[in-house]
Amino acid sequence: MGGLRERWRGFTDLLLQAQCPLCDRTAVTAFCQYCQRQVQQCQLADANWAHHEHLPILAWGRYGGALRQAIAAFKYNNHPELAQPFAHWLAHTWLNASARAALTALTVVPIPMHPSKRQQRGFNQAELLATHFCTQTRLRYQPHGLERSRETAAQFQLTARDREQNLAHAFSLGDAFRRQPPPGSVLLLDDIYTTGATARAAAQTLRRHGIRVHGVVVLARAEWEQGQSTGYRGQGAAKRPGQEAG
Ligand SMILES: [Zn+2]
Repeated sequence: MGGLRERWRGFTDLLLQAQCPLCDRTAVTAFCQYCQRQVQQCQLADANWAHHEHLPILAWGRYGGALRQAIAAFKYNNHPELAQPFAHWLAHTWLNASARAALTALTVVPIPMHPSKRQQRGFNQAELLATHFCTQTRLRYQPHGLERSRETAAQFQLTARDREQNLAHAFSLGDAFRRQPPPGSVLLLDDIYTTGATARAAAQTLRRHGIRVHGVVVLARAEWEQGQSTGYRGQGAAKRPGQEAG
């Protein structure tokens, strides 16, 4: 009797265990232990604010390797649940890098997606990250601060100059800020930052309307000091690497 009950419990435990989104091993947390280690190796040591093309930026990790794979799984292989651990790590970085006095008046605005693309994917990864990020940091969350007014061509095949052109009028002020501008500065949030063209276009739109931009926080950024090198060609690389990178 006891043996049967144990076997039954073993069977139901097996059903309840999730699979790692990167390797299909069983996982009790977001990733299996092995992949968790690989992804966390991408964390930037002493992550702090940096300036890139006149925009302050704060990132949790380096865009490459297992983190790049994990972000691709999150966006393209339908793993919205990864927003939670990602945002948790990002919030930790934010709390370490930011003076608490500056926190109160900030409004977090996720970089919006064009509605047709959002519908296709089922979610906007930046929105998911931002909701969890705001829960942890207690910052104000405003998903309607900006609108994606124009669908932009996929960014990854474009030169830097073409990217800027492509994005120049991609954003407009969202409903919420048209009705009432935010009380303080805006903190933009996105999943990745490569050339920064997307974040700069979003920041320019806000600034054109007299709204101050504190900076942008991202889960992963390219190491632009080394000439935008983000190429990862390791085993089992992301299924659609670089797509939509901005
Ligand atoms: Zn794994």
